[in-house]
Amino acid sequence: MTIAIERIPMLADNYSWRLTESSSGAIAIVDPAEAEPAAAAIDRAGGRLDLVLLTHHHDDHIAGASALAETYGAKIVGNGADARRLPKLSIALRDGETIPFGASQIRMIDTPGHTVGHVAYLIGDTIAACGDTLFSLGCGRMFEGTPSQFFASLHKLAALDPATTLLCGHEYTLSNAAFALSVDPTNAALQARAGEVERLRAAGQPTLPVLLRDELATNPFLRAESPAAFARLRAAKDKF
Ligand code: ZN
Ligand code: FE
Repeated sequence: MTIAIERIPMLADNYSWRLTESSSGAIAIVDPAEAEPAAAAIDRAGGRLDLVLLTHHHDDHIAGASALAETYGAKIVGNGADARRLPKLSIALRDGETIPFGASQIRMIDTPGHTVGHVAYLIGDTIAACGDTLFSLGCGRMFEGTPSQFFASLHKLAALDPATTLLCGHEYTLSNAAFALSVDPTNAALQARAGEVERLRAAGQPTLPVLLRDELATNPFLRAESPAAFARLRAAKDKF
C-alpha cells in the first residue's frame, strides 16, 4: 500500500495536495483554495474524489471545498471545534481521531497558533498536511493563537517520524530562507537548503514537499528552544 502525492498550485502561492491510496484508489484533496485546478487534476486521474481535508478556515484554504464536494460526492473533513467557520463538514474530527483512507488512515492533529482551530493531518504513517502551521524554513503568522500554543503545535509535528513528507500550504520558502539565514547564519544545512531553494525558484520549480528531517536541521521556528524564543522569532519575522 502506497500513497501518491500530487501538488496542485492555486492562487498566487498556495498549494493544494491530491493524495491517492494505491490499494483502493481512494482520493483525498487538501485545502482546495479553488475548485477548477483541483477538478482538472481529479478529472485527469479518473474523476474520483472521496475526501476534502481542511486545515483551517481561511479562504485561501477552503474556497473550493463545497463545489468539489458537490461535484464529486466527496466528504468534507475538518476540525469539529471550528465547524462554524468551515464549510459544512460531513466528518467533524477531534484531536487524535482517525478516519479510514482506503487501506490506510488519516489522523487529525490539533495544531493551533496560526488560527485557534488549525489542524494538521497525518496521512498514513509518513505524510503530514500541515497547512499554515509549518512552512519550509518558516511557520505561519500567529493570527489567533499564543506563543505557547504555536510552540506546542510545532513540537507535535517535530515529534513525527523524521522521514515524514510535509505538505505545506504555501510556497514561501525563498523569503523564509532569507530570514532563517539572518538568525542562524552559521548553520551549514540551512546554507545548503537556501542555495537549493534559490536554484529551484530561479528555475521556476517548487520547493515543496519537504522532509521533516530536513526542516529539523534548518527551520529556526522548529529549532526554537522555548515558547519565549519562538515568540521573539515570530515577532522578528513579522518585521523582517
Ligand atoms: Zn491561513
Ligand atoms: Fe494560507
